[in-house]
This record gives sequence, structure tokens and C-alpha cells, in this order.
Amino acid sequence: KREDVVYFGAGPAYLPTDVLATAAAALQNYQDTGLGVAEHSHRSQLAADIVNNMKADLVNFLEVPPSHEVLIMQGGGSGQFDATLYNTISIWVEQQKQQILQSKAEASEAEVLEQLQQKVKSELKIDYLVTGSWSLKASQEAVRLLGPDYVNVASDARKSNDGKFGKIPEESTWKLSEKPAMVYLCENETVDGVEFPSFPKVLESKASNGGTIVVGDFSSTILSRRIPFEYFSIVFFGAQKNLGSTGITPVIVRKDLVSLLTGKNTPELIRKLGLPVSPTTLDYSVIAKNNSLYNTLSIFDVFVAGQVLKKLLASFPDKVHGQEVVAGRKSALLYDALDAYPEVYKVVPDKNARSRMNICFRVTKGGNIDEAEKAFLKGATDRGLLGLKGHRSVGGIRASNYNAVPESGVEKLVAFVKEFATAAY
Ligand code: PMP
Repeated sequence: KREDVVYFGAGPAYLPTDVLATAAAALQNYQDTGLGVAEHSHRSQLAADIVNNMKADLVNFLEVPPSHEVLIMQGGGSGQFDATLYNTISIWVEQQKQQILQSKAEASEAEVLEQLQQKVKSELKIDYLVTGSWSLKASQEAVRLLGPDYVNVASDARKSNDGKFGKIPEESTWKLSEKPAMVYLCENETVDGVEFPSFPKVLESKASNGGTIVVGDFSSTILSRRIPFEYFSIVFFGAQKNLGSTGITPVIVRKDLVSLLTGKNTPELIRKLGLPVSPTTLDYSVIAKNNSLYNTLSIFDVFVAGQVLKKLLASFPDKVHGQEVVAGRKSALLYDALDAYPEVYKVVPDKNARSRMNICFRVTKGGNIDEAEKAFLKGATDRGLLGLKGHRSVGGIRASNYNAVPESGVEKLVAFVKEFATAAY
């Protein structure tokens, strides 16, 4: 039974039981219409209300400033690896074009094109901070789309850590481009358990003077900490961890950047520059213009996310700050228990880069890690503690401590961590 288990899966993740009950009822009969929420047209007023309410509650909970807007997209976090590139490139081309015309208003189309071609060759750089498997994947996708010449891996955390992820290298070692069009980072690395403790200092001036688009993948930390929107131009996250069910991908993007896309560069120009043209469904300006309903959106998933947000807003008068305190408390409980038995457990990432959401550790008891981890997982499963197996690429144990995991659930896991360490297994 649901009451007998606690689920620490990394995504899809736990959803609050009362939200599921509301969603189950709404699937059959939404607001006494006789039709379920997944059956109504996405063009109905009812669907528009669900989308608008969810967006307003997201803005409210995260304290999104008026400079930014929310788009609800599809294609997951992986789709945004591409979308962030397509949109940034188009914005960058438009900015360069405006600069060219500023210095020579009467420049002919051919002159503008020639200067743009020069700039693409000599200046266009996209920087990645590779701190774990997901930022690595995003950077590889950039190389696939653009070729290696435009992509700069400014930092690869494996290089200073024996070829493994688990720390965030000193900022002084990062090799950022002089004027990157975009800097990409993954705020919380779900597979490796690494989280940025705060916004990088070296990016502050690049970001705040507006010159560089800073992109943050918040897939596995969204709604658990304040986002410094003064520095982030684009923030995205799949819903399936802290926000709701799989199927929607919200993007929070600076409005002035969206307006640089609207009706601006033609596909022909982008093609003449040898750059990739954005698919329509990944173009932020198209999604913004259509209130996220350019094509059929899963209104059911938006509804579920909306219910999660309503519950969070009712639980935390100080919104995301309140949830941030709870997330810190829950993760500290678990890390403290693991650190208390250094002979039995080894937390994978460095102390100053430990994720509050995905707690990754090895079980070293008795010297045979494989055996020890098997025994740990079996003991946990027997006690209804589920979803603890680490990602297949790295192994080990991973406890995902998302918002819907109650403190009492973490306490159960902590009790088992202590029991396993001290009892004979
Ligand atoms: N980024 C992060 C941090 C993730 O954890 C994930 C998925 N676990 C992704 C991106 C990819 O998301 P999706 O599966 O929605 O494409």
C-alpha cells in the first residue's frame, strides 16, 4: 500500500497523495462537465484557465520578477538542451545585426551579411560548465548541433577529480570565453549529486550587464531554492521531479530576449550564416505569442503541476524560502547520519558541492562494495524504502530528497542508515 512505502526515486518522483486524489477525480469529471481534464480541448477557456493559474502560481511561489515570463513547453529537459541553443543563437544574431546597423545605419544587406559572417567566425562562442552527467550531455548536444568550433567547455569537473564528477572546480580555473553568447550550467546534477552552492561570482558581471545569456538547468532542484533571476536569462526544468507529472517543461525567460526573437531573423539569414534554424515548436517567441498553446499541450500535466503549486503556496507563507529551509533540514539529517559512519558510507561529492535533492553515496561496509550495496538495497526495500538504486551509469545509492518526500520519510531512511551501519549484515 502507498502508506507503507517511501519513494526516493530520482524522477519521475513522488507526488503528494492528495494531489493524486484530486487529479484522479479530475481525470474522470472535471468541474462537473462530465468530461475529464485530459479530454477537454486545449483551446477551451477551461484549459486556458488551468494554464494561466498554474503560471501565476509558479510566478508567485518562485517570486519571478516582471522582467521574466513563463513558457510551458514540451520535449523535456533534453529538448531544452536544443531550445536554449537555437534561441540564443537567433538572439545573438539579432543583437549583432543591431550593433552593425548602429555603427553604419545605411549598411546594405550584403554588407550586414558579410559582417555577420565575420562575427560568427571570430566571436560566436557557447560556454558550458560541465559539473555532471546532464551538463555533459547538454554540451555534447551543442557539439552535435553546431560543431566543436563554437562550443567551449569552460570547466570539466572530472579533470580535477580523478576523472569522476563530484566537485565544482574553483572558479579561478574556469576558462570562460571573453564574450560568450551563452554560459550554460546545471544547477543540480541529478546523477552525480552535485549542486551549485550559490551563483558563480565570475558570472555575475557577465550576466548582469546583459551581455551574456546565462542558462540554468533547474530540472532537479526547482521549487526547492530561490533562483537569482537577476543573473539567469533562461531557466528550464522538466516537471517530473519537484513540480508534477512527466510531460511538461516550463521555461522562465527574460522578456526582452523573447522580443529580440519575435518576427526578427528569417530562416534564410540563419542558414546563410551556417547556423541551425530553430524548429517552430522550440522557438520561445512562438510559444510566448500563443500563451504556451501553439500546439496540443498536456493540460492534465499542467493541472497536476498547478495542484502541487497550490499545496506549496498553502503550506509555505514565505513561499520558496520556506521550502528551501525544509529541503536543507531534510538533507542535513541524511548527510549527518552518513557522515557519522565513515567506515560504512562514503558520500560521493565534495562537502561544498553536495546536492540537497539527490544524495549519492557508496556503501563500503565489509570492503565488498557490490555485496554491501546489494544488502543495503534489500534491507531498505524490506522496510518500504524504495527507489534508492543509483543511476546505472555511476552505480551506488541515491536518495532523492524531493519536496514531496516528507520529513518523516527521511527519518525512516535515517533510522535504517543507522541500523545498517551498526547491525550485522
Ligand atoms: N537535466 C537534469 C538535471 C535531469 O535530471 C534530467 C532528467 N533526469 C534532464 C535534464 C533530462 O530531462 P528529460 O528526461 O525531461 O529530457
